[in-house]
Amino acid sequence: TLVKDRGNTIVDDLNGREGKDHRTEESIVNIVVGSSVWVEDPEIAWVDGEVLKIDGEDAEIRTSNEKTVVTKLSKIFPKDTDSSGGGVDDMTKLSYLHEPGVLHNLSSRYGINEIYTYTGNILIAVNPFQRLPDLYDAQVMERYNGAPFGDLSPHVFAVADVAYRAMINEGKSNSILVSGESGAGKTETTKMLMRYLAYLGGRVATERRTVEQQVLESNPVLEAFGNAKTVRNNNSSRFGKFVEIQFDEHGRISGAAIRTYLLERSRVCQISDPERNYHCFYLLCAAPSEVTEKYKLGDPKSFHYLNQSNCFQLDGVSEARDYLATRRAMNIIGICDKEQDAIFRVVAAILHLGNIDFAKAQENDSSVLKDDNAKFHLQMTAELLMCDIQSLEDALLKRVMITPDDVIKKSLDPHGAAVSRDGLAKTIYSRLFDWLVDKINVSIGQDPHSTSLIGVLDIYGFESFQSNSFEQFCINFTNEKLQQHFNQHVFKMQQEEYTKEQIDWSYIEFVDNQDVLDLIEKKPGGIIALLDEACMFPKSTHETFAEKLYQTFKSHKRFIKPKLSRTEFAIAHYAGEVLYQCDQFLDKNKDYVVAEHQDLLSASKCSFVSGLFPHLPEETAKPSKFSSIGSRFKLQLQQLMDTLNSTEPHYIRCVKPNNLLQPAIFENFNILQQLRCGGVLEAIRISCAGYPTRRTYVEFLQRFGSLAPDVKKRDHEEKDACRMILEKQGLTGFQLGKTKVFLRSGQMAELDARRVEV
Ligand code: ATP
Ligand code: MG
Repeated sequence: TLVKDRGNTIVDDLNGREGKDHRTEESIVNIVVGSSVWVEDPEIAWVDGEVLKIDGEDAEIRTSNEKTVVTKLSKIFPKDTDSSGGGVDDMTKLSYLHEPGVLHNLSSRYGINEIYTYTGNILIAVNPFQRLPDLYDAQVMERYNGAPFGDLSPHVFAVADVAYRAMINEGKSNSILVSGESGAGKTETTKMLMRYLAYLGGRVATERRTVEQQVLESNPVLEAFGNAKTVRNNNSSRFGKFVEIQFDEHGRISGAAIRTYLLERSRVCQISDPERNYHCFYLLCAAPSEVTEKYKLGDPKSFHYLNQSNCFQLDGVSEARDYLATRRAMNIIGICDKEQDAIFRVVAAILHLGNIDFAKAQENDSSVLKDDNAKFHLQMTAELLMCDIQSLEDALLKRVMITPDDVIKKSLDPHGAAVSRDGLAKTIYSRLFDWLVDKINVSIGQDPHSTSLIGVLDIYGFESFQSNSFEQFCINFTNEKLQQHFNQHVFKMQQEEYTKEQIDWSYIEFVDNQDVLDLIEKKPGGIIALLDEACMFPKSTHETFAEKLYQTFKSHKRFIKPKLSRTEFAIAHYAGEVLYQCDQFLDKNKDYVVAEHQDLLSASKCSFVSGLFPHLPEETAKPSKFSSIGSRFKLQLQQLMDTLNSTEPHYIRCVKPNNLLQPAIFENFNILQQLRCGGVLEAIRISCAGYPTRRTYVEFLQRFGSLAPDVKKRDHEEKDACRMILEKQGLTGFQLGKTKVFLRSGQMAELDARRVEV
């Protein structure tokens, strides 16, 4: 039979990235004929089985899905046979820590609706895709309030509670970073965190609108305008969000600030089946009839910006009800009725704008409105935006060209006019979104005296699709930054501690991603800088940009030029290689509003609309002051990192168990890939390969001195005294640093048990 060595957790090749074998002799020795093991399987990643035969380095295994496989001994892992069916609530408690063990643990817990599991202090949350009864009730919040971490089952509330206690006790800011791929449950998790923090830091509701209520109600408003159905998530956030909740000296919520990142602008005018545009468009079409009549709206099917896809409705969602709910939330936040009307008037205007079609003019290349229908929508757009109808038509159809000796009005062809129209729609929408965020921030208010805050980050996870463009580039850049932050905290801090203590940690490998970050953001010479240069140089095309990248990064080991392409490049990200298509990089990076559009809207008779387009001071309006989305995003990200670096971080990794968005389906390969991308496997390896328990010599002697009274009595150096105690107990594998004892996993428990015996 298999002899298990619980005292010595064996850490295996958890991350598999370097393809190196991290396992020790010990674990292989543990496998004998009859052992229960895990073996790789092409369909389900890992399958359990029994060893039938061992022949040198090879083992023959009969698997539970009735196959007989022969594989290298070093490729199979021992299976824990006497663990209970429900798994363990913390991965670090597994008797065997390896990839199949981690996966099996998550899967058995998921099977009994235990969606949360710790890995040390990282919380892994597997999306249940169904409302689990009583998981987030008021009673549950009460139970977690003040409970020591790890006493109750893993939960988002527990993470929020730790962050809150740490803030109160140490007066230090904390942050909770929620990550995961689209549909993994980041936004739902964030909302639970915010609800729990509002519960802890709320006051007795005497006021009608408390700060915490406003903080919570900002969610439905931002979701109405920033979320949409995608193939990956019916309620996908198309922007990143960092919510900073400020607390006063009594631990009460006293203010909040919301920062958003990179709203996906293209969705406003371009969607593909079966996705949808932003929710607010459909909500408005389902508004009470006096509203839809006023704005001449009807069936969403009649609008070009919505009918490019055949999906109009969402299962289980009532747009009419959500329209009213959004307005209610706006009331609570402090957006007045007049402002609400203006907001929805602008949303309606965008729908009409999208229906203005163009045709080729008879005499030349210029264009005209296509038909009476287009004229009707032009008129509606002008009316709703309260701008001059002729100016609107001109702004859509013509461009003013300034040459050294003349000012010429050039007409756009129908395609150019459509691009101009879509550009206008995107600009208006993104200004509207920014206005909402500003308004929410002003309404909730900042507390200038706040001493500490808890930040909650809900930001897009790593993306790698068939086709990847500038958006994926920015998103993956974000994830590289966050990965580095994660690395620094989990790994570097461990290593630094080991180095400081001068103990041997050579087996801990740490994959740093600074080189990828340099490739992307280094100034000068990184990809973002080269892109800005290309955007400023009038003759650049995406081909010349790609060529420049190829030349510059010829020998960069994270940059790959695909053999057969002249407009694509790949980056070897920490989570895998991603191939980017350059063709829209230049356009998407340019952050400018066409002067004709700016002039049109700043002249609007509606102060709300003109307020979205304030006159810019002369200087910044000059073309020489080039502003790019990439550089601005980089700056925003740097500010975010600075904020995060001044806080104590907590991590929640959300996992999407399947791509069907269905409950009770657990796709092994899919999940392993996410655990890898989130650094979870790596983190487990690092924290368990090392010495999970550390105690200063003084602490150690206080606790375990009773195990060897004679050692204690004599006048030994503390370090020597500790060594003698440990040796006396027959323990091996521990290390003695400069100030601390480093124990292997399980050794602390062993010593504690003996202490009880004494
Ligand atoms: P995106 O990056 O696209 O914004 P996300 O990670 O924010 O994705 P969510 O919108 O939070 O994903 O979750 C997707 C869906 O999964 C939710 O609409 C909900 O149906 C379900 N879901 C997520 N978490 C939970 C939970 N804890 N309980 C029940 N259902 C959940
Ligand atoms: Mg989301």
